[in-house]
Amino acid sequence: MKFLSIIFFLFSSFLCIGQSTYLHCGKLIDTKNGKVLSKMTIVVNKNKIAAIQKGYLEVQTPEDVLIDLKTKTVLPGLIDMHVHLEGESNPKSYLQKFTLNSADKALHGSYYAKKTLMAGFTTVRDLGGSGANISLRNAINEGFAEGPRIYTAGKALGTTGGHADPSNGFRKDFMGDPGPKEGVVNGVEDAPKAVRQRYKNGADLIKITATGGVLSMAKNGQNPQFTVEEIKAICETAKDYDMHVAAHAHGDEGMQRAILGGVKTIEHGTLMSEETMELMKEHDVYYVPTITAGKEVGEKAKISGYYPDIIVPKALEIGPKIQNTFALAYKKGVKIAFGTDAGVFPHGINGKEFGYMTEVGMDPMEAIQSATVINAEILKNPLIGSLEKGNFADIIAVEDNPLQNIKTLENVIFVMKDGIVYKE
Ligand SMILES: [Zn+2]
Repeated sequence: MKFLSIIFFLFSSFLCIGQSTYLHCGKLIDTKNGKVLSKMTIVVNKNKIAAIQKGYLEVQTPEDVLIDLKTKTVLPGLIDMHVHLEGESNPKSYLQKFTLNSADKALHGSYYAKKTLMAGFTTVRDLGGSGANISLRNAINEGFAEGPRIYTAGKALGTTGGHADPSNGFRKDFMGDPGPKEGVVNGVEDAPKAVRQRYKNGADLIKITATGGVLSMAKNGQNPQFTVEEIKAICETAKDYDMHVAAHAHGDEGMQRAILGGVKTIEHGTLMSEETMELMKEHDVYYVPTITAGKEVGEKAKISGYYPDIIVPKALEIGPKIQNTFALAYKKGVKIAFGTDAGVFPHGINGKEFGYMTEVGMDPMEAIQSATVINAEILKNPLIGSLEKGNFADIIAVEDNPLQNIKTLENVIFVMKDGIVYKE
């Protein structure tokens, strides 16, 4: 061991890597290989993992920092593929469409982003807001706010009167006629403008609402809202800008159109038929279940006055169904990507999703992989989702071994992102 330390010391001196942080990890989850390793040291230099070694390495210089996680389980920072950081659902949400400015949303977002980071989620995909989510991403990247790495869709794309029409439910003189610039697409010819506008605004990916949704001021929560040609046009344009497309979908027909149109992920997937599950596999589309949102929305709908009347029957019908759909899709071998829809419920409890996934049969290691390596694959970022030399130092720790106690992931006790410790 001593010999290895010397070699390592010489190696680090050679690279002039300066001050390092040594993490002594009692257990370490190797998400790439689905294994739990014992007694490991991670060496962090600047924002990257400089080395991972067996045993507990001693620090090499007086400036080096040692973090003792010998009684904990260490994992790569978690990734949530479906959040809305700009806000949090509450009985006033619908009124807030008229009272909050972009600056309010950005500031609220920075509060929720911090909560998300503290819960162990070091990367998220923000699937739609007003566009303040783009400013939030930039502020975090530039060090003006604390939060996860954000991949954002900016404003989601919908159709007139559809789930992402920003003036749904407004009285007529407020409705206007939003178009591609505002994220409303009607017809194939609107698609390139809508996608290119998102690109110009600074979005990383595209979100579409392929079917009706629960929380919009509209009657139908599951009808198809795009034609397959419209979705194809959106996906083809998105591809030109190296953006993938995520599709919100509850109803089966809209889901099938989204898959055939070329989307990368299906969100919620509530009423997914077995035929559609096969189609998902055939087209290499990932399923982001958001079980937590389904459960939370179903519960809140029972509180009188929490949601407007038009929402309640949709929430009661659709919410509770997601977990069973997920169980079947998992059993059928559909690729599962971890995502919660946080924002529809309080930010920071994203880790509950693990419990919901495993209680209906998902292997705990696979659940962890869905929130790490699988999501890194969708985001095409090989530097996150696994603890390997050269990767970003996004590292978290929990009290117990999550393979034995998955709920330990609801209480993350150590958070490092980009080499900086946020929670210890
Ligand atoms: Zn959502």
